[in-house]
Amino acid sequence: MATAPTGAQRVLIVEDNDKNRKLVRDLLTFKGYLTLEATRAEDGIRLAQQSLPDLILLDIRLPDFDGIEALRRLRGDPATRKIPVIAVTASAMTQDEDRLLSAGFDDYQRKPIDIREFVDVVARRIQAGRRPWAG
Ligand code: MN
Repeated sequence: MATAPTGAQRVLIVEDNDKNRKLVRDLLTFKGYLTLEATRAEDGIRLAQQSLPDLILLDIRLPDFDGIEALRRLRGDPATRKIPVIAVTASAMTQDEDRLLSAGFDDYQRKPIDIREFVDVVARRIQAGRRPWAG
């Protein structure tokens, strides 16, 4: 995977909620990552194709189409299929965690995020790459 000239790892945040996006951006920036951001699934996919980030954080409820469909499109494109993707879901949707993993997400995190766990999962997933059985 290409890296930015600085060597910093790049994380694409696809999230339509401004507060959530800012929280994740501030957290990852503080930890030394470079962040890219999109508020709609379609923009997120385009940005992923253009910039090939090291990791994508994908909100499930987005204004144009949902994160599962966005994941399907990312996996359908040879350029983006190898990028690890973490689903970020509202607590109300935790019953869907199995469904998210079955859909091919590499991990999931619940909102509101647990900051320590979130940072840990991001770092581990960038290090490990895609879950081999994630399809
Ligand atoms: Mn949302």
